Amino acid sequence: MKPDGLLMIPGPVQVHERILKAMSRQMIGHRGAEFSEIISFCHENLKPLFGTKREVATISGSGTSGLEAAISSFSNVRKMTCVDNGKFGERLGIIAKRYTEVDAVSFRWGTSIEIEKIEESFENGSEAVAFVHNETSAGILNPAEEIVKIARKYDALVIMDAITSVGGDEVRMDDWGIDVAIVGSQKCLGIPPGLAAVAFNERAWDFYNEKCPFYLDLAAYRKKLGDNQTPYTPAIPLYYALEEALKIINEEGLENRIRRHRIFSKAVREWANEAGIELLAELNEYSRYSNTVTAMKLPEGVTDKDLRGTLKSEYNITVSGGQGELKGKIFRIGTMGNIGKRDVLATLGAVQDILMRFGKAKPALNAATEVLREL
Ligand SMILES: *Cc1c(COP(=O)(O)O)cnc(C)c1O
Repeated sequence: MKPDGLLMIPGPVQVHERILKAMSRQMIGHRGAEFSEIISFCHENLKPLFGTKREVATISGSGTSGLEAAISSFSNVRKMTCVDNGKFGERLGIIAKRYTEVDAVSFRWGTSIEIEKIEESFENGSEAVAFVHNETSAGILNPAEEIVKIARKYDALVIMDAITSVGGDEVRMDDWGIDVAIVGSQKCLGIPPGLAAVAFNERAWDFYNEKCPFYLDLAAYRKKLGDNQTPYTPAIPLYYALEEALKIINEEGLENRIRRHRIFSKAVREWANEAGIELLAELNEYSRYSNTVTAMKLPEGVTDKDLRGTLKSEYNITVSGGQGELKGKIFRIGTMGNIGKRDVLATLGAVQDILMRFGKAKPALNAATEVLREL
């Protein structure tokens, strides 16, 4: 008999029973007091996850809707630097190109960014920078604070894709000096896909571009914040889900949640090191391994189908492959959201079993359990 599926990809993630139940409630009017209370709770409780005391707005749309809302609404710049060391960094540039001139500062996917190259871009007239905090496609954490430091020297706007860090890793928008940050619902927050949240400060509005798309115009969302409403009919069940997810996060405590995510990703890395599986990310002094997703190279002689296909058919466990140029070369284990050690251990055990059949891994579960014992 096949067990229930286990989803260990970097979004969408497994959804907690409590959240699934919350979503099955009857609809309510989106202009009434009952819904306003939910929105107010959601926006207030999202703020600490972003590390901001400023404003947070929610949009019914996937994470990309939040990215496009942020980039297009704040695109009144001569040039925007888009930092690309993975699939999602590349996408920021593709989005921004529709609204302003882009200077794409690119690095081989999976390698660290070099601050000097970003500074050069500002020297050459860029007035804003967009970058990915946690580059999901490569399992690398980019240096937010260092990027802001350089941006401040040039008074540039800073937009951060925090889609796989908010709710799972430390994000301190206000302390770091990030002007705009974005999260999507189906990653570390642990709810189904379809909601995005954008946090922004006052300064961002100096860069406001009224020629942004109508549905994604953040000025309209901001105008409704005071009434605890959204400008257009929101995806109501997803707000039920977000409310419940934020309660779960508050019960666990943000510090504990971040610690749990760090332990899970460390367990995956320690397993990989011991098993003889190479991590994709190549770090420098600034970057770190992602605390929410781990990208590993597929060993020689093992195809994506061998590993992920067998994992799915025999164990009903799903992990991710590579995107774009990394397709067929890597696999990625997401350790995001409301999962437990059992899920991490089961995934590593199954991956190890399959790789061992090819003679491509050494038994290494002890390395993982040792880390997981910290929890
Ligand atoms: C998942 C992801 C996105 C895209 O979000 P969608 O919800 O698929 O639109 C963008 N950036 C990062 C870093 C992501 O992990």
